[in-house]
Amino acid sequence: MNPGVEHFEDPAPTTLPPRQLAIGLKLGSWMAFALVVGLLVTHQLLLQPALMRLSSDAPVINIAGRQRMLSQKLAKTALALQVALDQQSRRERRNELEGIVNEWTRAHRGLLQGDFDLNLPGNSDPRIQNAFVELEPHFKTILASVQVLLEPIGKDGELQEIQKAAIQQILNHEDEFLRQMHALVGLFAIDARDHVRHLQLLGWGIVGLIAALLLAVQLIIIRPALEVVASRVATSEYQYQRLVESMNEGVIVEDVAGRIRFTNRRVCELLGLPSSELVGIQTLSLLAETDHSRFQQIRNSVSTPVEPVEFAFRTSSGMIIETMASIQPLIDDRGQAQGFLLVVTDLTARKQAEQRSRDLLEQLVHADRLKSLGELAAGMAHEINQPLAAIANYAEACLASLVDPAVPSQPLIVPLQRILAAALRGGEIIRRSRRFVQRRPHEVQPESINDLIREVEQLCRPEALRLDVKVELNLASVEPVVPVDGIQIQQVLTNLIQNALIAMESTPADQRILKVTSVFESDQHLVRIQVRDSGAGFGQQDVERLFEPFVTTRRDGLGLGLAISRNIVQSHGGTIEAMSNADRGATFQFTLPLVAQLVEVPWSSLKEETTHA
Ligand code: ADP
Repeated sequence: MNPGVEHFEDPAPTTLPPRQLAIGLKLGSWMAFALVVGLLVTHQLLLQPALMRLSSDAPVINIAGRQRMLSQKLAKTALALQVALDQQSRRERRNELEGIVNEWTRAHRGLLQGDFDLNLPGNSDPRIQNAFVELEPHFKTILASVQVLLEPIGKDGELQEIQKAAIQQILNHEDEFLRQMHALVGLFAIDARDHVRHLQLLGWGIVGLIAALLLAVQLIIIRPALEVVASRVATSEYQYQRLVESMNEGVIVEDVAGRIRFTNRRVCELLGLPSSELVGIQTLSLLAETDHSRFQQIRNSVSTPVEPVEFAFRTSSGMIIETMASIQPLIDDRGQAQGFLLVVTDLTARKQAEQRSRDLLEQLVHADRLKSLGELAAGMAHEINQPLAAIANYAEACLASLVDPAVPSQPLIVPLQRILAAALRGGEIIRRSRRFVQRRPHEVQPESINDLIREVEQLCRPEALRLDVKVELNLASVEPVVPVDGIQIQQVLTNLIQNALIAMESTPADQRILKVTSVFESDQHLVRIQVRDSGAGFGQQDVERLFEPFVTTRRDGLGLGLAISRNIVQSHGGTIEAMSNADRGATFQFTLPLVAQLVEVPWSSLKEETTHA
């Protein structure tokens, strides 16, 4: 198992499609809402009447108790009427009696049948009804007796006999009325307690009902909904984790203090450490020391995602890995910084490919120089032959003079000097050729463009002579010194000159002219070099395509010379183009900037083009 690779349980997927699921959840939530509202309404409907009844129990007991007091007051007032001495006080007692009996009668009827104003609901309890039935004769007798007392009094102002008898009746029934009324108060109290108990039972019943319904809502609606939501969350989390784990990029989540909170599998693979060892340590400690301050600087200034930056990590075995890392701040919904997200791309493979590409290009460029030299070999052999022949001749002459004592030794100086000059000339040709084909690293240094052109002209001169081509150099009077790789620029010049020489094979010998020009364009900060011939020109050929690899019209051609030349010129920050001459032949020109502008022109671009060629 790879270090740090965690395995995730695939959560049981919910089968319903998301739209149906959303509709189901919505319906469920409305049902739950309706049920809860229904419960509240039921609760109110059942509880309110019981509460109302309870609220009237206190006035009932109160009024029932007061009835006892009123009946006593009634008896006392009747007695007071009897013993009243004068007319005035009798009238007052009668009025008093009338008031008491009205209040007493209304309360009695209200207790039995209900009286809204007195807040009496009436009572249908059989026990109370029976008590009232038993009480009724005493009530009626007392009421009838009081009414007799309220009849007009005799002429002399004295109570009539019938009224005295009525007072006696009142006194006779008052005791029993009081006793039964007392019992009734007790019954009203029992009834009130019954109401409380009933309310309690009802309350518990409703609580039970609510609990049962809420349980049903929980089981039928909420729990399945929560399960669906949980399953969805788990699925999306699982998918998210799978995605992060399957990424080819390393993912590091760190907190505000720079401590690692999460790494994916790729980071573990890159660094050769399990995530358990990575979590909690500083990301900085994983970087190569040279990148520490740069990393901190970037992280401190990052408030929005920035372009990926190259960072080198050090693996557990101490190896350095080149990476491209993008750093983004992690901000929560309240705008608070939570840390950073680093997405790390391993550049090792890319760097290796780039290096391979560079090596390949270098090999190709070298092979191209070898090829050029091979093509120039015939002319060069001829060129070397001359100093060699001269050396042989002068050496022979020297020998002859040495062998013949009659010949003075003085004249030997001249032939020996000529031998030396010829040997140097031959050596120079070989040195130049060697320098041209030598394999060496890319090296940029200030070079005189005119000198480079002169040297190439000398290299190609034998071939030009062999092909009967007149070479003209028209070089800038101000010697432009440009930072270039001299050998590579000479390679471009050699390619262009060789192509020009070949293009002039069919041109009449007296018209074969090759012009090499250098122009110093100070305003544009560049040097322009032109190679102009009077050859066959391009005919119907697409001039742009000539620079594509493997495009050739020659039987023995490879079609790489111009492609390589363009690559060299562009990698120096210059441009190259081909033009047809107005009269005859073609001109190739390229520019080189005066200030070094080294551009990496990857071999891959050459490779891409081969597919079109
Ligand atoms: P090669 O020389 O191997 O063919 P190059 O890339 O050097 O490859 O040249 C590609 C083609 O460009 C040549 O085959 C030729 O058709 C054309 N070409 C190059 N230079 C000239 C020139 N001076 N005049 C006419 N055609 C040219």
